[in-house]
Amino acid sequence: MAYVLDDFMAKVIAKNPGEVEFHQAVSEVVESVIPFIEENPKYEHGKILERMVEPERVIMFRVPWLDDKGNIQVNRGFRIEMNSAIGPYKGGLRFHPTVNLGILKFLAFEQVFKNSLTTLPMGGGKGGSDFDPKGKSDNEVMRFCQSFMTELSRHIGPNTDVPAGDIGVGGREIGFLFGQYKRLRNEFTGVLTGKDLNWGGSLIRPEATGYGCVYFAQNMLKDKGDSIKGKVCTVSGSGNVAQYTVEKVNELGGKVVTLSDSSGYIYDPDGIDAEKLAYVMHLKNVKRGRIKEYADKYGVEYHEGQRPWGVKCDIAFPSATQNEIDESDAETLISNGCFVVSEGANMPSTPAAIEVYLKNKILYGPAKAANAGGVAVSGLEMSQNSMRLSWTREEVDQKLQQIMKDIHDTCVKYGRESEDYVNYMAGANIGGFVKVADSMLAQGLV
Ligand code: GLU
Repeated sequence: MAYVLDDFMAKVIAKNPGEVEFHQAVSEVVESVIPFIEENPKYEHGKILERMVEPERVIMFRVPWLDDKGNIQVNRGFRIEMNSAIGPYKGGLRFHPTVNLGILKFLAFEQVFKNSLTTLPMGGGKGGSDFDPKGKSDNEVMRFCQSFMTELSRHIGPNTDVPAGDIGVGGREIGFLFGQYKRLRNEFTGVLTGKDLNWGGSLIRPEATGYGCVYFAQNMLKDKGDSIKGKVCTVSGSGNVAQYTVEKVNELGGKVVTLSDSSGYIYDPDGIDAEKLAYVMHLKNVKRGRIKEYADKYGVEYHEGQRPWGVKCDIAFPSATQNEIDESDAETLISNGCFVVSEGANMPSTPAAIEVYLKNKILYGPAKAANAGGVAVSGLEMSQNSMRLSWTREEVDQKLQQIMKDIHDTCVKYGRESEDYVNYMAGANIGGFVKVADSMLAQGLV
């Protein structure tokens, strides 16, 4: 009996009530892979889809910590160990007040396919907490991270599960988490990625997601005989992914005219050049201020409470968070001439927005392909840790570029619909699925 999307989803929804982002992520993948499974019935006989939507393990725990006033605070911690068919669980930690089980399950599910696409041996996982680092002192963040790791440490390890950063978890948090793991286990290992260069980190890891996302757009454009040069780009967000997207677009001769945070966006028609980008990096990474300060400093427009999708552009790089582009944003982008969307954030486009991209046949690079550069360089960090050596900037960047090209080519292989149209979403979903599915079949009933 062939799969019917609605029947399959009805079961997923009944079993995972209220987890709307998880339903959304599963539905997109299942819709793409059903035709492929019909041609390859071994996956249906093996109940691969039914197994893939069930995490191998979910860990949920209490995180008590003391704030600066001496008050006890309690947060909830999670680690979703989704799939280890092709390697240890791998994926970031998100610290944000919106974090809940459904959001982390969507992220872990996406991560399985993304990691498979990287060509590296990494399974999929995700974790985090509803802790909000915004407005907390360094000491509070440290005490929270130590408490979080005190529980998490018993579940992870360099050959078991290797967390990294995501929203709200950057170099500072990885440092505190690593320090606590080392104390508890008396082991100096590559148990986390995104580490500082002085203690096992990889060159290009901070840049990797943003650079990779631009490389992916570059590959899609190259296929059409075009390039980034001279293109006007809108970027949302102003964190790690957004910052290095701007840097790489500038390097390749494009111009970025927007950045945003949860309060609003700035529009700088002259472009965010290297000097202005250095200001943003200091503002966001050191001062931990708001993007509005950019508008005050450079005398440009600031749009309170809005996202940048109304600004005319050739390429959009959504690099903030899930569901930040809805159907009407997608329509506005396209009516303004945007013809490339390369997703730096995870699942930034709603299903209705994706429909608009596909209907208009624009170059749409879905997150699990376009933003895989971050976790890919995490995989390279793991390799360097295992070998106890470090590669040069050029070596890592060259490997990242090759990986992004390979991911692009996998999407083309599985997503080509006609001589001049590639459905990158279908290509990424099927391309990511095959390796994991075949490995699960080979390993028996896992
Ligand atoms: N959080 C990033 C992602 O969404 C990076 C994960 C990692 O490096 O493990 O892919």
